[in-house]
Amino acid sequence: MVEKGHPRYRSLKLREKILEAYHKGVLADAGIIAHGRGEAFDYLIGEKTRRPALRAIKAAAALLLLAEDPVLSVNGNTAALISEGIVELARLLDAKIEINLFHRTPQRVKLIEEILKRAGAREVLGTDREKLKHLKGIKSPRATASPRGIYTADVVLVPLEDGDRAEMLKRAGKTIITVDLNPLSRTSRKADISITDNIVRAIPLLIRYVKKLKGCKRDELKKILEGFDNKKNLEDMLRLIDLQRMRKL
Ligand code: ATP
Repeated sequence: MVEKGHPRYRSLKLREKILEAYHKGVLADAGIIAHGRGEAFDYLIGEKTRRPALRAIKAAAALLLLAEDPVLSVNGNTAALISEGIVELARLLDAKIEINLFHRTPQRVKLIEEILKRAGAREVLGTDREKLKHLKGIKSPRATASPRGIYTADVVLVPLEDGDRAEMLKRAGKTIITVDLNPLSRTSRKADISITDNIVRAIPLLIRYVKKLKGCKRDELKKILEGFDNKKNLEDMLRLIDLQRMRKL
């Protein structure tokens, strides 16, 4: 039992959730390692949403509202940490939800589908009942996508994604938004919008921005996007991590 007053309370609670998901078979062991990597970066950014992340979240909300056919991609870590938030975001945007796993097994796909359905999802794509297609004919197992989901999507939210998959999505012409605590990861570098924040903080904020911007005209949303520079934003985040590190010495 973690005491509420413990300085690492929130972080330890997330760890508990991840371990529980692992023991239930929702997560592969690599999912725990990915979480640990995220934890380290979260520590460096002060375990709170920093200004560059907020700018990226606002731009992501604008992009998702402008999208013709947005899809939210879900892996084991995302399902374990924030499934209800994903479902609410999908409902607000009228977006599809698609399971995409690095370590894909029929059992894990089934468990994640159940988590999402329990969280209120009406439809979950990317299951084994569908005949998945290969993006742009790329013959890698990491290039599969639902024909009604990521395959035809224009904008894809791919949180906690690995660099190879992000690269394939870009090659297939998708505009991608990621949530990734590591501003140096290949995914953060490849994405059109990189939100350097913990997914448990980023998704509720994204929901808040989508609600706030929903009434805006398309021109206003486009203006928000035009004012956003992902490369510069990542550089701001790196500068901020460095200052944070020096303050701790
Ligand atoms: P890449 O292939 O993009 O260079 P990687 O090899 O680190 O990155 P993975 O381990 O597959 O790729 O991706 C997991 C990413 O998700 C890591 O960058 C990690 O920092 C990040 N991450 C883990 N947990 C969270 C979380 N709760 N919120 C946001 N990001 C997270």
